[in-house]
Amino acid sequence: MTVLQVPLNTRTYFVKIGYSLFKKNSMIYPFKPGDKVMLVTNENIANIWSNKVVSHLENLGVQTNQVILPDGEQYKTLKSLDIIITELLRCHYNRNCKLIGLGGGVIGDLTGFAASVYQRGINYIQIPTTLLAQVDASIGGKTAVNHVLAKNMIGTFWQPSKVIIDIKFLSTLSKKELISGLSEVIKYAVAFDLDFFGWLEKYYKDVLRLDYWAVMYCIKKCCKIKSLIVSEDEKENSCRVLLNLGHTYAHAIESFSNYKWLHGEAVAVGIIIASYTSHVLGHMNINDVYRIINLIKNVGLPIESPKNMDVKSYVLLMKRDKKIFNEEYLRLVLPIKIGEATVFEKVNTKVVEQAIIKC
Ligand code: NAD
Ligand code: ZN
Repeated sequence: MTVLQVPLNTRTYFVKIGYSLFKKNSMIYPFKPGDKVMLVTNENIANIWSNKVVSHLENLGVQTNQVILPDGEQYKTLKSLDIIITELLRCHYNRNCKLIGLGGGVIGDLTGFAASVYQRGINYIQIPTTLLAQVDASIGGKTAVNHVLAKNMIGTFWQPSKVIIDIKFLSTLSKKELISGLSEVIKYAVAFDLDFFGWLEKYYKDVLRLDYWAVMYCIKKCCKIKSLIVSEDEKENSCRVLLNLGHTYAHAIESFSNYKWLHGEAVAVGIIIASYTSHVLGHMNINDVYRIINLIKNVGLPIESPKNMDVKSYVLLMKRDKKIFNEEYLRLVLPIKIGEATVFEKVNTKVVEQAIIKC
């Protein structure tokens, strides 16, 4: 097991990464007999994994209740928040209880949000079960639910007290979800780490077949990068924004496809268009752009925009995502070479259009 630290101004929390951490008699929790825990999960994960986690907790003498929500992004809502809060009240949970989010990014975001508002804030632990949540969503304390008009519009910054990443959970994840998570992994490499990019080119097949050492290396690498960034800029006032590489384009694709495209799939195309945008601006070398496209293609992610999505729809949806309507410029995170990204304050939409056409 590996333990990383996320040092913040007020406190430090730990990210534990390992395999099969919920074995009998293993002591991975800071719990003592009599502690009260509410485990939040969804119907899908409850069927596969939650009994294992609950019985582990009960063996430790921890009093555990569960809230099982329906599965899907469409349930990341205030209504689900209300269900969690109602259950906490019904079970007489006070400020000393802990929430556990067992699931992908949807459950993690919802659990974190519930923890941040219940009785003005209680502790919570993230136990992420998708690759995307293990490398990204579970660390950093961004919590949210969706509003009918836009994603993640209601939320808080509320850091977990611990993150427990068990690679074994990935064994039941669909190939499509696993590949979607790899897109965020590629994002870290393109934005921050040339060597890691080279490593991915060499070993992506091992990650895809869930080879223990490859997955462990990959998750540790991403979590280290994210921990460093979050401890430097907890509330996204500076460098944390670089984690949004490819995301403005991706949000446009997600919205255009009515969320039929998975987040990671959209991010993959977003990274490619961001690279082309940088190239059109005279920064990224075209060979770097082709290297990025090759890796994205090889792992099985899309490299082309959705059919029928024209340049005008992109720019309109990108502006809507940024909440700007009258300007001809967009603020974008772009890679300048593999391993380094920066914020471009004013990118002319004409340049963005030239990049989109290439995809
Ligand atoms: P998700 O939570 O919807 O999970 C994807 C699917 O995989 C679901 O059907 C889920 O039930 C299933 N699943 C989860 N774990 C499984 C397992 N071990 N075995 C089998 N099936 C499993 O999606 P996601 O991609 O994990 O997360 C996307 C969400 O994360 C979005 O809502 C996004 O806004 C959020 N997000 C948050 C942050 C952050 O910093 N807070 C960062 C990135 C994304
Ligand atoms: Zn993302």
